Amino acid sequence: APTADTVQGRYLTDATSQPRSAADREHIMQNLRFGADFSDHMASARWTADTGWSDLQLLPYGPIPLDPSANVLHYAQEVFEGLKAYRHADGSIWLFRPMFNAGRLAASCRRMALPELPAEDFLASLVDLIRTDHEYVPHIEGGSLYLRPFIFGDGAGLGVKPSTSARYLCIASPSGPYFKNGFAPVSIWVTQQYHRAGPGGIGAAKTGGNYAASLLPQQEAQAQGYEQVCYLDSVHGTNLEELGGMNVFVVRADGKVQTPRLTGTILEGGTRSSIIQLLRDAGRQVEETAINFSELAEDIRRGAVTEMFACGTAAVVTPIGRLGFEGGEVELSQGTVTQEVYGTLTGIQYGRVEDRHGWMYRV
Ligand code: PMP
Repeated sequence: APTADTVQGRYLTDATSQPRSAADREHIMQNLRFGADFSDHMASARWTADTGWSDLQLLPYGPIPLDPSANVLHYAQEVFEGLKAYRHADGSIWLFRPMFNAGRLAASCRRMALPELPAEDFLASLVDLIRTDHEYVPHIEGGSLYLRPFIFGDGAGLGVKPSTSARYLCIASPSGPYFKNGFAPVSIWVTQQYHRAGPGGIGAAKTGGNYAASLLPQQEAQAQGYEQVCYLDSVHGTNLEELGGMNVFVVRADGKVQTPRLTGTILEGGTRSSIIQLLRDAGRQVEETAINFSELAEDIRRGAVTEMFACGTAAVVTPIGRLGFEGGEVELSQGTVTQEVYGTLTGIQYGRVEDRHGWMYRV
């Protein structure tokens, strides 16, 4: 990937920019939440079929005008990404595998008939925004600047067709740990009533509709005392897929690790693929395979499966403590593999563990 110095400077700062006061910023940085506060700027670019991508700018963070008939508001032509900038002990700022996110964003754009933003313009937006708003990258471990790039069809008109214009924005949120309770086991409802994705659908794309569809199942699971929802495949209704916003792993008593195979209905996580690599580096056998949920529940009961964890950029790695389903519940103990994966991955991200795969990208 081109270095930050070769891509930087593509997004020009708008002259009207009014950063918040140092005191207001410090108030935010001393009270880090997740995805609730935003830095002073946002990267912006516009696309039309005639001109391609243009108007690369850093604008003040704030509301945007949108035509009421804009495609995104009616037909949800939208894709997004999520990645973090981490502060190392020496003060330097780093991204984790931004080219993975560039590639996944492009893949999501193809599925949703949106124009692909060139990878260098994507990288440049992150670099220019982070360099300008660097004071919003927290200095505490566990803190990060969460970056949310997104593209949507903003063309006016109610015809059901791809928008003739699109907008790219990247906003940045100084964040503390995703789960308030930190590295504490989560409880999960395995739903047999709802599905996240079907063959030929949009499950492998990071697009808003998938998350809109997850809100009701999530609400119902919470009403029953579970924190997150896990989905099964929609063809057989038997195989584990993923959570609403995280991939899942299973650790077996014999040391083997399994994660659902990518069948086109699962979003491929950058955390997932990194964890597969790290486990293999550590000499473990990792299988991407079909995981039958009834067999899994039985294996947990008889101790053949010892740990499960969920993973994603926001929460990194979260142990799963309890799985509820129609007609039963199983509990998992807390083992060492989850903790090891968490330690190694956050170690690389915060610069404490050697980055053998060149995943870190200096901003
Ligand atoms: N699955 C879904 C549905 C997600 O929204 C996410 C978060 N992007 C993930 C998995 C994990 O992906 P990543 O590790 O790249 O954050």
